[in-house]
Amino acid sequence: MLSGGRLSVSVAFATSPNLTRSLSKIPSSRFLGHKISYFSNPVFSAVSLVKWNSRMVDSKAANFTIRASAQPLKNADELIDSVETFIFDCDGVIWKGDSLIDGVPETLDMLRSRGKRLVFVTNNSTKSRKQYGKKFETLGLNVSEEEIFASSFAAAAYLKSINFPKDKKVYVIGEDGILKELELAGFQYLGGPEDGGKKIELKPGFLMEHDESVGAVVVGFDRYFNYYKIQYGTLCIRENPGCLFIATNRDAVTHLTDAQEWAGGGSMVGAISGSTQREPLVVGKPSTFMMDYLANKFNILKSQICMVGDRLDTDILFGQNGGCKTLLVLSGVTSLSMLQNPNNSIQPDFYTNKISDFLSLKAATV
Ligand SMILES: [Mg+2]
Repeated sequence: MLSGGRLSVSVAFATSPNLTRSLSKIPSSRFLGHKISYFSNPVFSAVSLVKWNSRMVDSKAANFTIRASAQPLKNADELIDSVETFIFDCDGVIWKGDSLIDGVPETLDMLRSRGKRLVFVTNNSTKSRKQYGKKFETLGLNVSEEEIFASSFAAAAYLKSINFPKDKKVYVIGEDGILKELELAGFQYLGGPEDGGKKIELKPGFLMEHDESVGAVVVGFDRYFNYYKIQYGTLCIRENPGCLFIATNRDAVTHLTDAQEWAGGGSMVGAISGSTQREPLVVGKPSTFMMDYLANKFNILKSQICMVGDRLDTDILFGQNGGCKTLLVLSGVTSLSMLQNPNNSIQPDFYTNKISDFLSLKAATV
């Protein structure tokens, strides 16, 4: 399968469980001496190895291409002219918590006035597109629901893309956003916040029943995660034939408050992965499901997209996996010293302080 050189991500994603399973068993983050990031993610593992393989095939001389260090953005005008679509991560790029980052409205207006398509992508699955639309509105930003792609929407879109049977149910470990998107897509579901208060009373002979018509378990960030949900999701995945295990993301940490980092969606996914011994299909960043979806929906070439984000292991990898240009902004979780740390192997094409540096165009420097 790999000998074909360039293999589309969607094929690797959708049809190669054996490939991803075997890749996920590789214990080291180094492969034949080359660092492969995100090996714990089978989707990205496949993508990484395919890219690696492509480079090997393409180069003939079998020289591994090492990505050059990121450059400070000096000519924003040139970058803007070179693409037709900007995909923005939200937290750390557009806003921080509930505060808008300086200069964002003017920057988005300028890009729209230059005819650029704007898309907003977030791994946060706690809200639906509609709920995110309200957040943009509250912050005074004119963004339509159609421009917003949250991983809650991606989970429902993925199920639609595989024609998930409408007579099957989805068990949700996650918050309201996932339920809303599943409902909009016409899927039956159970779980979610409703199971947040459920407890298990372990007495002799106790057996938890589960719904045998559950055909998919969707796991996202869940502040009300508990042992009931772990056991229920585990039973569905282990005992219902063909039951899918879908993760909205595997983010290690998230930023619930500005005082520290908090355990992210990856912790809930890890629990279910641990009990089922299965790896999930990841629909959020850095998996390219959403990128493929966007490219199809808007009929755009991925080379005509610039991915703008504040995280290397999700946003920048997402852009690179999709074959897009990438811009790291330092207005979120990544500092310049983190970017330039010798242990960091993820290098965007450009970096700058914040997206409003676009306004100073040719003068934008870090
Ligand atoms: Mg972010």
